[in-house]
Amino acid sequence: MIVDLLFEYYTAFGTNPTYTILRSIVVDGHEIAWMRFEGIVDIPLFGKEGKPYVGNMLFCECDFKKDVGWQIHKGNPCTIGSRGECLPRQAAIHLRQLELRSEYLRRFEKTTDSDALFLPQQTPKIVCDLIEKVKAGEFIGEDGSGAEFWGGYFYLQTLASILDLPMSEIWKEADPLIEQKKISLEGAVVQKYRRPPPPRWEECFRIEENGFVGIASLPTHSKMPQCWKFERCEVGKKKRSLLGHLPLAYFPDFGPDVDDVEEATQELKKLMSNITSEKPTKN
Ligand SMILES: [Zn+2]
Repeated sequence: MIVDLLFEYYTAFGTNPTYTILRSIVVDGHEIAWMRFEGIVDIPLFGKEGKPYVGNMLFCECDFKKDVGWQIHKGNPCTIGSRGECLPRQAAIHLRQLELRSEYLRRFEKTTDSDALFLPQQTPKIVCDLIEKVKAGEFIGEDGSGAEFWGGYFYLQTLASILDLPMSEIWKEADPLIEQKKISLEGAVVQKYRRPPPPRWEECFRIEENGFVGIASLPTHSKMPQCWKFERCEVGKKKRSLLGHLPLAYFPDFGPDVDDVEEATQELKKLMSNITSEKPTKN
């Protein structure tokens, strides 16, 4: 059991963080547990040094067992192994998902006739309930803390397992929830609803030629057309007119790709050479 392994684990790693079992599931004599870890940040981390941190995560005996989940390497303790390979652990996750499915079947039993579409029809209520469970620190049959890391509650894959639906169906179930502003999605991570930022073009670079300025701008978020926007204005003037667009090869998540900038520069120069034969207006 995990509690029998913790002493040796703490002796090697110290008690920062400490672990508390919130819920234990034993499969074939192997303990898997939803645990709370609490500690103090002891590495340089954006000014969070010395501050307490707390979280909940799924662990199993493998994580705390010497030479399975950790070992002493050159005098220092370090974690090893791949937790995903533990079969009892996978079974425990599946059991919890089944348990949630039965809970929802029981809870909504009287609201509609029972048929194959019974649970999917309850998707909005189930999603809201799962969010509440996550907020309350409950285990909802999800391994790791990836969804939390991405600022969310859980993965749509977990919902698919609970509802026993393929992912292709789950995406369809999620769409109306987004339209009703109940949730947002970042990849497959379910998040609190966030109003998308207003569409805005951000200037990336400009070229000046013969009294004209050519301006190349990029979209500021993924819901906007993924292309360059080229405009021109006269030097010293603010009024701009549109020259054209050019599709982006890469989404400019962390700034534009070098190839995209190169291509946009060539395109803007070409567009500029076409218009510089016109004379800038006076005044
Ligand atoms: Zn294990």
